[in-house]
Amino acid sequence: LIAFLLYLFYLVAPIGQLVQGFTQMQNGLAAVKRIREIEDLPTEEIGGQAAETGTAPAGVAFQDVVFRYGDDRPVVHDGVSFEIPARGLTALVGPSGAGKSTVFALLERFYEQQSGTITMDGRDIRQWRLPDLRAALGYVEQDAPVLDGTLRENLLFAAQGAGEADIRRVLSLTRLEDLVARLPEGLETEVGHRGIMLSGGERQRVAIARALLRRPRLLLLDEATSQLDAVNELRLREVIAEVAKETTVLVIAHRLSTVTSADRIVVMEAGGVRAVGTHGELLADDDLYRELAATQFLLPT
Ligand code: ADP
Ligand code: MG
Repeated sequence: LIAFLLYLFYLVAPIGQLVQGFTQMQNGLAAVKRIREIEDLPTEEIGGQAAETGTAPAGVAFQDVVFRYGDDRPVVHDGVSFEIPARGLTALVGPSGAGKSTVFALLERFYEQQSGTITMDGRDIRQWRLPDLRAALGYVEQDAPVLDGTLRENLLFAAQGAGEADIRRVLSLTRLEDLVARLPEGLETEVGHRGIMLSGGERQRVAIARALLRRPRLLLLDEATSQLDAVNELRLREVIAEVAKETTVLVIAHRLSTVTSADRIVVMEAGGVRAVGTHGELLADDDLYRELAATQFLLPT
């Protein structure tokens, strides 16, 4: 299928756009693959209906977690420990390569640590049935894509069972009601590259809304690195704060406006946890944090 798509693409793409287009398509395919994994779960485990796990916000703990991506690779996590109580906003910050994305990958069990324990609700995640674990997690990737199709299709992609009331609630929570009102056909408007283009801030909130419709017990959010205008940045901060009242939110933060409203911040450096505290505490106590704050965390990851 991929070879066929590539062939089609080759036929229609002007040579000049090939390289850029190919990269975009790879990104798109990776995103679709990841969403598909969620979509392929049995429906009773989507939308917070998982019998074993319920919908209550989950607490998370890493305890002495050591991890490397392969036997011959350098250690990525070296005795990582931190605790996140159920509900509230925790920001993960640190320079590129510190191991932030790897925290997400381990929580999702795309990889397994070599030693140490990761628990959700006090229970080792290796003891969870994988579909239950994945159903309990929401993941919003960095610069998440809007897929071709209507806005409604984009929202329901991984939560087909969600009802009209759920959609309204989530649209309100993610401050997307104004957008829907403005679109010519509301939720039925085609968006994505063959429809109406959404701004970066709107795309990110659509991705958050999509994740929330599955009623995650833990929302993993990799914040966009691209610039948001002041209005969209303020909205994002409000939305994250609102969502953190309902569920546990762990965000890889790239913006000062996000970390200042976090309940706690975990500062990672070179595969370890360097410090944990609030923005005020860390500004006073931690040199690296002060440096990151001065550059607004806007670092490539
Ligand atoms: P961050 O998100 O803080 O920038 P990552 O967790 O992505 O850091 O990466 C931590 C380290 O692990 C880096 O040295 C990176 O090169 C390495 N790494 C990340 N993903 C992989 C992978 N899939 N295979 C091998 N090494 C990886
Ligand atoms: Mg990363």
